[in-house]
Amino acid sequence: MRRTIVAGNWKMNASKESVNKLILGILSGMSEVSSEVVVCAPFPYLSQVEALITHSQVKLGAQNLNANPAGAFTGEVSANMIKDFGARYVIVGHSERRSLYRETSSLVAEKVKAALDNDLTPLLCVGESLEQREAGETETVVAEQINAVIELVGIGAFRNIIIAYEPVWAIGTGKTASPEQAQAVHLFIRSLLGESNESIAQGTPILYGGSMNAGNANELISCADIDGGLIGGAALKAEDFLQICKAG
Ligand code: PEP
Repeated sequence: MRRTIVAGNWKMNASKESVNKLILGILSGMSEVSSEVVVCAPFPYLSQVEALITHSQVKLGAQNLNANPAGAFTGEVSANMIKDFGARYVIVGHSERRSLYRETSSLVAEKVKAALDNDLTPLLCVGESLEQREAGETETVVAEQINAVIELVGIGAFRNIIIAYEPVWAIGTGKTASPEQAQAVHLFIRSLLGESNESIAQGTPILYGGSMNAGNANELISCADIDGGLIGGAALKAEDFLQICKAG
């Protein structure tokens, strides 16, 4: 039985005041939540969130990392620094990073490795653009993104990796994949992992991301191969985020 995980990706949205309000709001409803809950905060707020969630079930994640351990990489943040602030998760390969910052699948794989080497759990994001879906390339694209990671770290490493399937056309657009569309790709991803190791395939959590909200979360998370959600916009409102955390 795989665990249900709901992770919030705040992206570049935060202030000291809003972080306080959001975390206190989430904490106030956590007694009714049985899913694993993660909040992925922008780097400057990791320390604030770390302090606020002490002794709670809420876990902390970052949104990106540099693949190098230390050194002359101005403006970058390493896995160790993230861990230093109590984070246990890190989003890797989000589509915004792949498209806006030209992160290739091989760089994403290096980042996954750096996270794993430092005992951080990577939330590995994969997904196709609208053009790729319309061209019938969804499975090819997702397979290339996942195979790059398998090639570098090996299938065994997926015991400590969470995958998030995030169709690019559904992120921040209000246009959610239907449960059937999402389930089909989740099943494909599980079969792909299963070609290397069936028990790892069955144990790997695969989250859906892309305009998941309080209204559609239940239906999506109820699908056989959807093990939770990676939530952008709806993670910024405590009430909406809590509704999603209770789904499934
Ligand atoms: C995301 O950025 O990972 C995401 C899923 O965003 P949204 O929920 O806003 O579509």
